[in-house]
Amino acid sequence: MNETSWLKRRRQGIKESSKRDVPDGLWKKCDGCGEIIYHKELEKHLWTCPSCGHHFRISGDQYVEILIDEGSFVELLTGLESTDPLGFVDSKRYSERITAARKKTGHSSAVITGSGRLEGHLAMVAVLDFSFMGGSMGSVMGEKIARLTRMAIEERVPLVTLASSGGARMQEGILSLMQMAKTSAMLAKLRDEGLPHIAIQAHPTTGGVTASFASLGDVILAEPGALIGFAGPRVIQQTIKQDLPEGFQTSEFLLEHGMVDHVVHRKELKSALAKLLDFFTDDGRDKAEDTLGQARRQGL
Ligand SMILES: [Zn+2]
Repeated sequence: MNETSWLKRRRQGIKESSKRDVPDGLWKKCDGCGEIIYHKELEKHLWTCPSCGHHFRISGDQYVEILIDEGSFVELLTGLESTDPLGFVDSKRYSERITAARKKTGHSSAVITGSGRLEGHLAMVAVLDFSFMGGSMGSVMGEKIARLTRMAIEERVPLVTLASSGGARMQEGILSLMQMAKTSAMLAKLRDEGLPHIAIQAHPTTGGVTASFASLGDVILAEPGALIGFAGPRVIQQTIKQDLPEGFQTSEFLLEHGMVDHVVHRKELKSALAKLLDFFTDDGRDKAEDTLGQARRQGL
């Protein structure tokens, strides 16, 4: 191997290690502390840094694997696929972007919906996949979440959502914004039925997703260090012309200010969810209905 090709390979290696998504390579540099971590080690720690606790971004499939009891997940509503209602083109055609995302993720949309068990508790589960066009919410995501919520009502089971999204899908224009109202309206029905919705916010949860279903959990959990907000910090800073406080829009900041109920390490996420589901749904759903119904009657 001559020096040029060696250098080229080495440079490519460096370039790969600076990617934000978990790579296929053997080693990964932590964005939090800079430590180089062996891939298997990272996998063992559920893609969190064993040194500093930094949470690497993972796919929807990986979340399903982490959270749902093995063999219990049944994917639902897979037949819904995005169309290109506006014939939208920026640097690429929207239809081409969808095709590429489908190939990359193996899913037909940016949300995986299904039913599954969490330490034995049955729930309807919607997990956003950031690797599918930034987990953006278009008509299909909105429709899938709304239908899944309806199924939760019909089956009398709780709903668990996990958000990781750049917000509304601009390529669908106003149709994407409509999904905020649609998902919120369906969640209001779930609420009227006395069934719980537990929302998890992972890095990043922003825009129209934050402004709709991701913030409408009866309990809202967040992964540590996640960026959670509506508009980004730069936009806010330029609008209000003031410096923003330190740690602004992180999970921990939101917890301190009452927007998030609990910040949970990914390793604890499944047991935290199971505990909540146990509290809300054990022994039939009477307890959940009573607790939620009571709280709502008191206007909490
Ligand atoms: Zn680290």
